[in-house]
Amino acid sequence: MSPIIIAGPCSIESRSQFTSVVESLATLPQISMIRCGVWKPRTMPGGFEGLGEEALLWIDELKKAHPNLKFCCEVANAHHVEAVLNHSIDAVWIGARTTGSPFAVQEITEALRGSNLPVLVKNSPIPDIHVWIGALERCRKVGLNHIAAIHRGFDIYNNLGYRNNPLWEIPMELHRLMPDLPLICDPSHICGRRDLIAQVSQTALDLHFDGLMVEVHPSPADALTDASQQITPDELSDMLSRLVVRSAETSGTDDDLRALRSHIDDIDRQLLTLLADRQKTSLNIAAIKQRDNMTIFQPKRWSEVLADRIAQAKELGLDPSYIKDLYEKIHAQSVKDQETLLSGGN
Ligand code: PEP
Ligand code: MN
Repeated sequence: MSPIIIAGPCSIESRSQFTSVVESLATLPQISMIRCGVWKPRTMPGGFEGLGEEALLWIDELKKAHPNLKFCCEVANAHHVEAVLNHSIDAVWIGARTTGSPFAVQEITEALRGSNLPVLVKNSPIPDIHVWIGALERCRKVGLNHIAAIHRGFDIYNNLGYRNNPLWEIPMELHRLMPDLPLICDPSHICGRRDLIAQVSQTALDLHFDGLMVEVHPSPADALTDASQQITPDELSDMLSRLVVRSAETSGTDDDLRALRSHIDDIDRQLLTLLADRQKTSLNIAAIKQRDNMTIFQPKRWSEVLADRIAQAKELGLDPSYIKDLYEKIHAQSVKDQETLLSGGN
């Protein structure tokens, strides 16, 4: 199936800017919906905060000229909802900063009750899947049935060169828990820079995402918001023509695939057996630490273990940061198990 493509400017800045971008996007057959910022949440006060209801009037005009185009914008409170319900808005999204506020989400969903408007819920910048699920559930609870999730990355200590770290495991877990919920990736806010957008969009499609929301501006460098991450309509068109949409179905009949998966299953059994052995050994060590009155956490030993495992990983062609993350998890669990044992199981 073709991916859902939502594209449009970060913010509506003027009638001519918006008309220009919409007229260009209207010529692209892949576009499912136009995104546009009417009210802009800004981290610092004093920046461009969107044009509000004036911009809604231009959306009405363009809807009249292009009745088949759909438009969506962000709503952050009941007043915004009231306003969009009086204009040609076909869907709304709850922005990342709003998703983390249960009172705001409740207010928005109550205001949307009975409207049947589709609602797209962005993840909160905090990498806690429950915050995202909570906002989606609040939509469901008031009877909004057309809901979808937008993954826009997470603001964590190490963003690895992205504006917001994708932490792909979180949207993948959301998909596992809510398999029928459409999942859209917002590569623009993940990347924060246009040169990475095509690559992140392809990753999203390879990870089974249902679509993309991309920021598009007629002259990105002059944009009043998010100038470094917007792309032109031509660049979007070029990117869409290059994206590879792969089959989501597994071919149950492919013998090579079956054999390789069975090999993976064997490897995982060995890994788990070794982890259980490691845990047992770690508990034996705990008994010695107790006998000799040593602290559970031994910083020098831990530094040596980590450096050695990273060196081995490099020799084996494994990504050192992956092995570092893995060993931090394994070590944290060892410390926790030893503590539980020494504190008598509490
Ligand atoms: C936006 O999409 O315009 C936006 C403000 O993004 P986010 O809520 O993801 O920061
Ligand atoms: Mn933006």
